[in-house]
Amino acid sequence: SDDEPVKTICPYCGVGCGISVQPGAEPGDMRFMPWGEAPVNEGRVCIKGGAATEVVDHEDRLTDPLIREDGEFREATWEEAYDLVVSEMQRIREEHEPDAMGFFGSSKVMNEENYLLQKLARRYGTNNVDNCTRMCHASTVWALRTSLGAGAMTNSMADLRDEADVLWIQGANPGEQHPIANSQYFRQAVLEGATVIQVDPHANKTTRSFKIDETDRHMHLQLKPGTDIPLLNIVLKTILENGWIDEEFIEQRTEGFDDLTETLEDFDKEAAAEECGVPLSDIEAAAEKYATADNAAIFTGMGMSQHTCGVDNVQNEINLALITGNLGRPGTGVNPLRGQNNVQGTCDVGAMPNVLPGYQLVDDDEARESVEQEWGFEVPPEPGLTNVEISHEAGKSVHGLYVMGENPIMSEPDGNRVEERLQELEFMVVQDIFMTETAKLADVILPATTWAERGGTVTNTDRRVQRMRGVEKVHENTKHDLDIMMEVGSRLFGDEKFRFDDVEEVFEELRQVCPIYHGMTYDLLGEEGLQWPCYEPGDEGDTFLYEDEFDTENGLGQIEGVTHQPPKETPDEEYPLVLTTARLEEHYNTGTMSRRSPTLNRQHPENFVDIHPNDAERYGIEDGEYVKLKSRRGEITLLAQVTEDIKEGVVWTTPHFAAASANRLTNDVLDERAKIPEYKAAAAEVEIG
Ligand code: SF4
Repeated sequence: SDDEPVKTICPYCGVGCGISVQPGAEPGDMRFMPWGEAPVNEGRVCIKGGAATEVVDHEDRLTDPLIREDGEFREATWEEAYDLVVSEMQRIREEHEPDAMGFFGSSKVMNEENYLLQKLARRYGTNNVDNCTRMCHASTVWALRTSLGAGAMTNSMADLRDEADVLWIQGANPGEQHPIANSQYFRQAVLEGATVIQVDPHANKTTRSFKIDETDRHMHLQLKPGTDIPLLNIVLKTILENGWIDEEFIEQRTEGFDDLTETLEDFDKEAAAEECGVPLSDIEAAAEKYATADNAAIFTGMGMSQHTCGVDNVQNEINLALITGNLGRPGTGVNPLRGQNNVQGTCDVGAMPNVLPGYQLVDDDEARESVEQEWGFEVPPEPGLTNVEISHEAGKSVHGLYVMGENPIMSEPDGNRVEERLQELEFMVVQDIFMTETAKLADVILPATTWAERGGTVTNTDRRVQRMRGVEKVHENTKHDLDIMMEVGSRLFGDEKFRFDDVEEVFEELRQVCPIYHGMTYDLLGEEGLQWPCYEPGDEGDTFLYEDEFDTENGLGQIEGVTHQPPKETPDEEYPLVLTTARLEEHYNTGTMSRRSPTLNRQHPENFVDIHPNDAERYGIEDGEYVKLKSRRGEITLLAQVTEDIKEGVVWTTPHFAAASANRLTNDVLDERAKIPEYKAAAAEVEIG
């Protein structure tokens, strides 16, 4: 019946927990139900998953299309809204060129929807299409793809729980960001004897979750932000000095080992430990634990990726795994913990400027031509702009923007400038469920359905593609993102290339152009899902990668020595503190959904900054009072939390709250290759508010 619970996937983080949604007699009655047999979480959820249905029928939902007229929004019909979107997109292409449009996909949106958005951009004639993974793991994807073969977790949560003896967690906070992965997988591994080495400037829920007993099975190396390369170089040099390398693995499965030894030849471990702010003996002890374990796994997060040296940070983790032979079997690997529920899939389906579905390079003629043949139109051969580059170009070479489920004013660094630049656009359309900070500047707003009201697939941090299923729409005049893309595409191009009977038919086309998904169908996905790569129907997918060889050109894992590159902005007299940022368990990225959830908002209704007691004393700041936090790009007012969780000289805050968003302060300087911004280190100052 219509009131039966539907089995779907939590809309928040990349763990991909299965949940059930019970529609209820009235829309407001919708509620969460556990799904006991769910493949990843077996019915358990964190506070976000349990509260997920709270925002589906929220009073702030956008219910009708809105068009800006004389500076004000007015309700419009879908017909008017579509006409305006299509005519403005056509005008921009005629008056400028196809590259004058940018397209933002979203990791909150499903595979089929992101697939159609990137197809729409390419049909329009531009590769200027990107998504928010640019801001979280673009550098990780770059390093993993180049040095190992695939931009994804090498292993799976289950094999890591069962087989890993050491969990090396650097720049990630699964206790808050991936709570079920932490409690059901990583903590279980520790209870059975594994050791955790956590490398993070901030003590957090992850730190506390592993303080299980009096044993030394948890080490916290509390380094200064931006010193991950020197810390890992100490680890690598210690391993080399003691001969804890896997010679056979290095010989048979890697290249570049000499480059690493040369890079480290004159490396001064003592000076580097000083730079990191961590005792050398602690780093050496951690190196021994990792290198002498039977199976050791690395987990990497945004503390590593969100730096101008993000690619090199992750390369050094790959170096560590390769020289100790910790790849290609269960319980090992280099494993990025992905943030949003479909951040892996959004990249897999090609919503990026340099790759087509399945990570086929746009500038690889053969790959591009095979996709063109399936689609029946040509794709521009040059990679397009990334999302931060698109924002930088707004009002210069970019004049129109299509935003599906993104909120760049809150999510991109230097938010004040983003806000100014977006106002320079000739036209912006935003497709969303709420009036976001970005939507307020749009010319047209298209009201979309939520995650609970539609079906499709999402891909979790394990590379597991899972089906989401929807209940009846809550607001009649909203539309599914997929239907909006189909309508806009059909009207723009006047042919059948954007006409599909249903979401499954879109997936069927996707799997024809995405080799790693080719073996999947909706029937084969069933309730368990499948982990890619899954090349042919009947393949069971891989729980871990690279058993026999790497997916690089010559099949070898690439070792490459890297050296310290400090953050682009370091403390000085005017801004003497290092500002670093991270997320909370109870909120989600720009807060569009979580700030509207009573359960979540009760936990953390406003932003705060962690400041060390010695710094607080110097500034005369009391715990719980309001302070101004400033950088060269702006200032915010928020509560001070005086705590030893943070290192002296460092302040820590979150991006979730519109009234005091950390991204008004962060620096928009980019990693040269992956174009990820340096969210994790900026110079800052604090004043009594
Ligand atoms: Fe949702 Fe992640 Fe929590 Fe699971 S761990 S319930 S996927 S937010």
